[in-house]
Amino acid sequence: MQLYNTLSAEERAIIIDDAGKQRLTLSFYAYAKIQDPKKFRDDLFLAWNKLDALGRIYVANEGINAQMSIPEENLEAFRATLEVYDFMKGIRLNEAVEHDDHSFLKLTIKVRHKIVADGLNDETFDVTDIGVHLKAKEFNEILDDPNTIVVDFRNHYESEVGHFKGAITPDVETFRESLPIINDQLQNHKEDKNLVMYCTGGIRCEKASAYFKHQGFKNVFQLEGGIINYAKQIEAEGLESKFIGKNFVFDNRLGERITEDIISQCHQCGKPCDNHTNCENDGCHLLFIQCDDCKAAMENCCSTECLDIIHMPLVDQVRLRIGKQVGNKVFRKGKSENLKFKHSGELPNNSLATAEKQADIRQKIKVKKVLLGKAEHYYVKAQVGLFTIENHDLNTGDKILISGPTTGNQELVLEKMIVNEVEALTAKIGDKVTFEVPFRIRLSDKLYKIVN
Ligand SMILES: [Zn+2]
Ligand SMILES: [Zn+2]
Repeated sequence: MQLYNTLSAEERAIIIDDAGKQRLTLSFYAYAKIQDPKKFRDDLFLAWNKLDALGRIYVANEGINAQMSIPEENLEAFRATLEVYDFMKGIRLNEAVEHDDHSFLKLTIKVRHKIVADGLNDETFDVTDIGVHLKAKEFNEILDDPNTIVVDFRNHYESEVGHFKGAITPDVETFRESLPIINDQLQNHKEDKNLVMYCTGGIRCEKASAYFKHQGFKNVFQLEGGIINYAKQIEAEGLESKFIGKNFVFDNRLGERITEDIISQCHQCGKPCDNHTNCENDGCHLLFIQCDDCKAAMENCCSTECLDIIHMPLVDQVRLRIGKQVGNKVFRKGKSENLKFKHSGELPNNSLATAEKQADIRQKIKVKKVLLGKAEHYYVKAQVGLFTIENHDLNTGDKILISGPTTGNQELVLEKMIVNEVEALTAKIGDKVTFEVPFRIRLSDKLYKIVN
C-alpha cells in the first residue's frame, strides 16, 4: 500500500504535461474534532492518490487545511471523498482565480499539532465564538464606515504585493506574531470601532476573530473565504475591488493578480514590480521581488555574493552550506540588507504602475510538449548549445522549447543542426546535437519538442 509520494516534482511535471489535462487549483479548510489524525491522513492519501490529486495538506486534532491541484474531470469524485466525512459535507472549495497545471507537483499530507501555527492555547478561550462573516459586498460597505479598522492578518511579503486600501499591515513574518501586536495597538478601541479582518482564504481569521472577541473586542468581523473568495465575488457581481494588487499564494504560482495595479518595487532596482522569486542559490533561497531585467543580470540571485556562489562547482557550494541554517525553502521569509527597495509595515495605497495584460494563463495548458533531452553545454561566444537526445527524435523545422529554472521557457524553431559533428536533418536517441541558441542556456536545461 503506497502511503507516500514517490515521484519527484520534475517527473510529475512531465507526466502532467504529457497527460495534457486541465487541472484546477483550489483550497479548503475545516475546523473539527479529529480523533485519529494519522488514520485520517492515510485514508485521505489513499483516496486522493487514486484521483491524481496533488497538494500540501495539514491535518490535526483540530481539523484540516488543504491547498490542492485536481484534474478538472475528477472534481466530482474528489468532492465525494470529502462528503464521506460529516464535517466536510457541502464544504466550500475555494477555486483559484488563476489556474496553473504545475501549482502543486506532489501530494503531501502532514499530521501537525495544529492546522495553522497560531501560537494560541485553545483551552483558554472559546474558539467557536468567531467574528461575523462578511461577503464581498458587505465587506466593501463596512470598509466605507469611518468607524472601521481593517487589519491584514497575513505576513509582510504577502501584503507588500497586494492589500486592502487603508489596511493595517503588521510587519510580521508569522501569523502568531501579529496577534499580540494588533491587540496592543488597538487597546483603546475595543468597544467603539469595528475590527474587520482578512487573510488569504479565511482560515487565519477564524481563529484570530475568536481570539479578539475573547480579548474584549465587541465588533469583530471577518472576510468570508478570504481574498480568494472576495476576488471571485467582485468579478461575479461587478463590484469595485477595494483590494489592490496581487494575492500572494503558497504554491508554485506565488501570486494571482486581483487588479492591474502594481504597488511594490523590484527589491534590487526599484522599478515597479510584484513578481516574487526565490534566490537561485540553493544555500540561500531568499524569497524576494525581482524584475525581469534584474533576473537576467543577476541570474535570479538576490546578491552578488549568491551570484558568485552559483558559479562555483557544486561540491564547493555544498561545503559552504554545512552548518548553516537554510529555512523552509519556498517560505524563507524575505528580508536581507541587500534588498534596497523592500518595504514592510506601512505600505502605500496607490498604484505605481499598471501590469501588462498577461497572456491567457490557460494557453500554457493547451500547449503539448514532449521531452527530448537535456543541455550539456553552451558555447557563449558562438551562441551554440550542445544537447543529448534521450527520447523520441528531433528534426529540423521542429518547434522546440528550452526550459530551466534560470533560463525560463524559451521557444524557437530549429533551422539547422549538427548531429554528431555532421549537418543532418534528423537526430535520434543517443545523438549529440548542436545548434544556434540566441540566448544563454544552462547545464541540464530541458529540451522539448512542441506538438500542436
Ligand atoms: Zn529590477
Ligand atoms: Zn541569495
